[in-house]
Amino acid sequence: MKRSILHAVTILLAACAAVVATGCGGDDTPSTPQTAALRATPQSLDFTADSYSQTISVESSGGRWLVSSADGWCQTDVTSGSGNGTVNVSVSANPEQSERSTRLTLRMTGADDVVVTVRQSAPGEEGIVVEPDPWDGVKRADITYQLLIYSFADSDGDGMGDFRGIISKLDYLDRLGVSAIWLSPAHPAASYHGYDVKDYEALNPAYGTEEDFKALIDAAHEHDIKVYMDYVINHTSKEHPWFVEALSGEDNPYRGYYVLSNDPAADIAAGRIPMIATEGASGYDAGQWFAAVTSASAEPQKLRFTLRWSAAPTLTVDKVDDIENSGTPAGKYLYYGNPGKCAEFFEQEDGTLALSLEFSSPWGCLVRTSSTSWAAGTKYGAKSGADKLAWGEPLTLMSNSSTEPKDILLPGMESVMYHSHFWTDWFADLDYGSAEECEQSDAFKAVSASTHKWIDMGIDGLRLDGAKHVYHNAASNENPLFWNKFYNDVNEYFRRTHSDDIYMVGEVYSDYNEVAPYYFGLPSLFEFSYWYRLEWALNNATGCHFAKDILSYRELYATVRADYIEATKLTNHDESRARSLLGGSIERAKTAGAVLLTSCGSPYVYYGEELGYVGRKDNGDEYVRPPMKWGDASTTTFIDKIYAGMDQIGDVAAQSADEESILNVYRTFSQLRNTYPALATGEMTLHPTYNSDNTRYKQIAAWYRTEGAQRMLVLHNFSNAPTTLTLDDDIEKAVAVLGSVSSKLSDSTTTLRLGGYSSAVFMLK
Ligand code: CA
Ligand code: CA
Repeated sequence: MKRSILHAVTILLAACAAVVATGCGGDDTPSTPQTAALRATPQSLDFTADSYSQTISVESSGGRWLVSSADGWCQTDVTSGSGNGTVNVSVSANPEQSERSTRLTLRMTGADDVVVTVRQSAPGEEGIVVEPDPWDGVKRADITYQLLIYSFADSDGDGMGDFRGIISKLDYLDRLGVSAIWLSPAHPAASYHGYDVKDYEALNPAYGTEEDFKALIDAAHEHDIKVYMDYVINHTSKEHPWFVEALSGEDNPYRGYYVLSNDPAADIAAGRIPMIATEGASGYDAGQWFAAVTSASAEPQKLRFTLRWSAAPTLTVDKVDDIENSGTPAGKYLYYGNPGKCAEFFEQEDGTLALSLEFSSPWGCLVRTSSTSWAAGTKYGAKSGADKLAWGEPLTLMSNSSTEPKDILLPGMESVMYHSHFWTDWFADLDYGSAEECEQSDAFKAVSASTHKWIDMGIDGLRLDGAKHVYHNAASNENPLFWNKFYNDVNEYFRRTHSDDIYMVGEVYSDYNEVAPYYFGLPSLFEFSYWYRLEWALNNATGCHFAKDILSYRELYATVRADYIEATKLTNHDESRARSLLGGSIERAKTAGAVLLTSCGSPYVYYGEELGYVGRKDNGDEYVRPPMKWGDASTTTFIDKIYAGMDQIGDVAAQSADEESILNVYRTFSQLRNTYPALATGEMTLHPTYNSDNTRYKQIAAWYRTEGAQRMLVLHNFSNAPTTLTLDDDIEKAVAVLGSVSSKLSDSTTTLRLGGYSSAVFMLK
C-alpha cells in the first residue's frame, strides 16, 4: 500500500498570524458577574522581529470602550470605540537581542478589563525546518481507535452504521495510523448502545451478518488493523434467554446464572451470596435489587377466576377445560399480561363474579374496578409477595386506597429478587460464585466459551466492560482474581491457534491507584488518570508536572505486572468530549492530541476526537456519540441528539483538505509515532530543566523518549502565551511541530520559541 510521507515543511514566523487568526480558544471559566460584557479576540498577539500589523476583534454589550497601550513600539489605530469593532495593532521592528512584550488594556464602564498580550520575537530567530524521516510502513505506534458501530459509517443507506460501513473506512483508519479498532458491543442487545447483551454468540442484525463481520475482520487484517470486541459480562439484558429461563422455575438449570434471592438481606447476612458481602454499601458494593416473578409455565392456560365482592374481596382460580362466560358485565376487571389488558367479570346467579379466559401473564394479575383509571381504591392485589393464589382457594385482596398492593401470583409462581449493579431493572448481574472458584460456575463457562466463536472468526482481543463491578466486595482482590481466571481461560483457547497471547483491556473507571491491582488479571487497562491530569494541566496552563505524574503511575503498575500495557486516552463514550472539557478550545484539543501521541503508553483515540468533536453528556450520553462526519452518504443518522456547536465541526473531507485542521495534527503525530520506535515504545524520562522543579516555565511539558540509540525530545506549551526556552540538548533536527515554533541557534545552546499551545519534537544526536 502506498504510504504518503510528511514533506519537509518550513514553518516560518509568518505562520504566527495564521495561528492567531484562528483564535486562542474560549474559556468556560466564569468570571465575576458584570452588568456589561467586553471581549477581545484573540487575547494574545505574536509578532516577528520585523514589523507587522494584526487585528483584534472587540465585542461589547454596548457603550464606549477605551484601549490603552503601555509601550511606544506597539501602536493601535484607534484608542476607543463602541459596540462591536476592530483594533489594528502594529509593532515596529525589534532592535533588541531578546524577545519583548507588552500589554494592551481594553476598558469599559461596568465590565471587567480585558488584557491583550503582545509579544515580539528577537531578530535572528528562524523558522524550524521540519524533516521527519520517511515512514517504513510498519505500525509500531500501538494506536487503537474506539468507534461506535451505530454512529461510524453506514453502507446501505438506512442511516445505521454497520460492519460493511467500517470496511469502507479502513483506508481512512490506515491513514490515521491506527493498528487496532475497538468496536462498541456487536451482540444483539436491548439498548441502542449494546451494553445489555441478549446473546453472546450472535451479532446485532442491524449491523450486518456473520459473513459481513468476518469480512470486516479479514479486511482489517489486510490493513494491519486488529479487531477488538467489547465484552459486557458483569450482567446481561433481562431479555437474555438465560434470564428468562432462570425465572421459569426453581429447578431450571439457568437458575444459578444470576444473583437471585427471595430475601437478599438475609442471604447476604448469612454469606449465601459470595459476590455480595455487604448490602447497601456505596462504591463498589452499590447496586439494586429488583423483583421478578418466576413462572412454572409461560404457556397460556384455560382458567376460571371467581371474585367474591365485599369490603375485603377474595379471588379464586381454577383450571377448566372450556372457556365459557355468561351473565351481565360486572364493572370489575382482571388485569394481566404483557402488554397489560383488562377483561371484565360477569355477574353470576349466586352473587359471585366470574371470568373464564385463556391466561398468560409473566407477572400474575390484578383486579380493577375501572378499565381506565388507577386512582386510589380502584386497584386490588395481594397483601404481600408471599401471599399468592393456590388452586381453588380464595385469596383475600387489598386495594390501593392507602398502601400499594402486590401483583397476585398464580400457583407455581414465585417472587424473586435479582441484582443489578447498574441500578436498572433492564440489567441482571451474572453470578460467578466465589472468585476463588469462579471458573466452576455455569455462567463463567458459558461466557468464556462464547468467545471461541469470535476467536475462530479471527478477532484479536476483547475490551472488558465494567471490570470493577463484577464482585461487590471492595476491600478484596476478587475482581482482579476473576479477570485473571477469565483471561487465562480464554487465552488457553486462543493459544491453540495463535503463537501469541490474546489482548484484553479492562475498563476500571477509577484513578490509577485503583486500576493498578487489576494488572494481576489483565495485560492492559485504561488509564483514566492520564486524561484527568492532562485536562487539569491544559486548563490550568501548567505542563511542568504532567510527565512526572504519568511516570509515577507506571512505577505503581510495574509493581504488579512487568509487561503492563497502559492504555492512555483522552475521553471515551461515557465521558464528555475532551474538547468541551478543554473549554471548547480547538488549540487545546490539538495540543491534547499531540501530547497523547508523543507520550508513553498505548493510546486510544475516540472517533471524532480527531475532528475536534464537542459534546457534554449532561443531557444524555447520545450527545457524545453522534454520527461521524464523513461529508458523504456513509454518514449515519441513527443518533439524532446532536450537541450545539457540532454543526461548526468540519467533516473528514473538509479537514483533509485543510492543512491547519486538527485531523492533520492527528495524522502528523500518529505517523511520527509510527515512524520512530522511541516515540512508539521508548522509555519516557523527565527533561532535566523543564519539569516540576522549574516553576518559571510551569506552562511547559517536556520529556525524552528513548529506544536504543534513538533519543527524542518532546516539548509542549500548555498555555496560550508564547514562551522562549533555552535548551542545552544536542539537537540533530526537528521532526514535527504544531502551531508556531521558531529557534535561534548558537554554539552550545538553542533558544526555542514555542507559541501558545505549540509543540515541537526533536531528534537528538
Ligand atoms: Ca446500515
Ligand atoms: Ca456485579
